[in-house]
Amino acid sequence: MTEFNQPISGNDLARFSGPNSFMRLPSAQALDGLDVAVMGVPMDIGTSWRSGTRFGPKQIRAESAMIRPYNMGTGAAPFDSLQIADIGDLAINTFSLADSLRIIRESYDAILAHPVIPVAMGGDHSITLPILRAVAAKHGPVALVHVDAHADVNDEMFGERETHGTVFRRAKEEGLIEPSKTYQVGIRGTGYAADDFTEAAGWGFQQFPAQDLWHRSLAGLGAEIRRDIGSRPVYVTYDIDSLDPAYAPGTGTPEIGGLTTPQALELIRALKGLNIVGCDLVEVSPPYDPSGNTALTGANLLYELICVLPGVTQR
Ligand code: MN
Ligand code: MN
Repeated sequence: MTEFNQPISGNDLARFSGPNSFMRLPSAQALDGLDVAVMGVPMDIGTSWRSGTRFGPKQIRAESAMIRPYNMGTGAAPFDSLQIADIGDLAINTFSLADSLRIIRESYDAILAHPVIPVAMGGDHSITLPILRAVAAKHGPVALVHVDAHADVNDEMFGERETHGTVFRRAKEEGLIEPSKTYQVGIRGTGYAADDFTEAAGWGFQQFPAQDLWHRSLAGLGAEIRRDIGSRPVYVTYDIDSLDPAYAPGTGTPEIGGLTTPQALELIRALKGLNIVGCDLVEVSPPYDPSGNTALTGANLLYELICVLPGVTQR
């Protein structure tokens, strides 16, 4: 009988002490025997407006000390059936975005040589491009659930082709994702041009603007997405700015009129049953998060994502 790693209980060691790992799980250096590897990608040099996401992983870990192992809403018991550890932060080069993206790609290639599901704490959204390069090298083009206020499909920003606002155009160009199985949920706000979103719709991206989701449960949309993806490998990328700034103010490019926290839970919970091969939670910026609520929300959404990974037991 495998002994699965457990988060340190708040009843055994006060929550404000102990290691600063995700949910105070054991830290791991080696990937052998792990089913899920949680890691930080502390980077903000791909962002276009407010910085600070380099501090995201540290603060998400700090707030995650509040989370208990059993999901009382869904019955999920991820620590009863999966071996999960925090493998620390990737050693990005904070003086070079290009080099950082190379480091992330090579780190993910090494991680994915093992039968492990990588779960990343950003970092700005530019981390997802090298992650998808590694994921697609292993699994082929993947379905993509992309929850975000922004479509992140610019061609260039200041002449740069790899930024947090160009990720999914590059992913489509490089054949890393299946365009017709790419779902962009929560997009809204203002555009550089009137056709900012429609071009990506022309590639086959399925877009669900926030204004069409206001005042609605997302359980049905999540179920539709789940049916449409079927058994394909799928990557889930969760930009915290998909939430309304009332729920998640601590982020680089906030947009009003966003999703609610209950909608985020409905959407993620509906993805149970998918063949999720990796996921990330990006754009938490602690300097703009004085209450800590954005990092707390990010930590909980990461927990909810872990709860819908393949192999999680239900109680
Ligand atoms: Mn984004
Ligand atoms: Mn965004």
